[in-house]
Amino acid sequence: MSFSEKVVLVTGASSGIGAATAVHFSKLGAKLALTGRNLENLTKTAEQCASKPLLITADVTKEDDLRKIIETTIQHYDKLDVLVNNAGVIESGGIETTSLEQYDRLFNTNVRAVYFITMLAVPYLIKTKGSIVNVSSVTGIRASAGLLSYCMSKSALDQFTKCVALDLAPKQVRVNSVNPGVVVTNLHKRGGMSEEQYKEFLNRCQTTHALGRPGQPEEVAKTIAFLASDDATFITGAILPVDGGRQLLCPR
Ligand code: NDP
Repeated sequence: MSFSEKVVLVTGASSGIGAATAVHFSKLGAKLALTGRNLENLTKTAEQCASKPLLITADVTKEDDLRKIIETTIQHYDKLDVLVNNAGVIESGGIETTSLEQYDRLFNTNVRAVYFITMLAVPYLIKTKGSIVNVSSVTGIRASAGLLSYCMSKSALDQFTKCVALDLAPKQVRVNSVNPGVVVTNLHKRGGMSEEQYKEFLNRCQTTHALGRPGQPEEVAKTIAFLASDDATFITGAILPVDGGRQLLCPR
């Protein structure tokens, strides 16, 4: 698998799955554009990459920042081959405890931002017959208690993947999704879990995931690269669990 001469844009590359994806694509020879809000963390990702990436600090909830991401990437590399929509946030809460503000926060980052940056990227992806990989979640496929807005946002993202895959298939642009189970990153602690709760949450993966463990960011990164690669030229509209068998099990 080689991405030599391919331009790959990864959102949320300053941490977790996005950072691992950036490093993995760099090892496969890609030219990278990496975005996130935290420049210090983006720089740490860049230091692990095999070649020097273009770094763009941006907040994906701001339309002007999304325009800046695409414009800066095109100005720098003159093309775009792969868009990885990875930036995302989580917050807990069910129907009795979720505010509209929380709903808006989750949908603005996990859905609206993906919708708009994809719109901006599509003309360039059509030119290269490129591809898109969206980072959804196993919670887009099955319900998870106390995560109402997050689950809804990921289900919406999955439907976005399928609809856009159909829209762009005649232009030979492929659109796919990875749907991770629990992966060891900062996501849940940033979403409000204490260290203690997170430790317990990871321990529970022994029973909540068929393979008996949480995933590592690199395991998701490799699947993202596969879906974006020339090894997957007949795959589009796929909603692919990368979840250690999480969605096969009954809820606990
Ligand atoms: P992290 O919290 O480690 O990383 C999240 C990334 O998203 C960071 O780079 C962060 O950038 C970026 N981000 C969040 N909000 C914004 C924003 N408004 N503007 C720009 N960038 C933003 O989490 P993960 O790596 O775990 O999450 C990556 C994706 O994987 C998410 O979509 C998540 O829903 C999904 N996922 C994760 C799972 C897990 O168990 N970890 C399971 C299933 C899905 P910065 O810090 O610079 O603001």
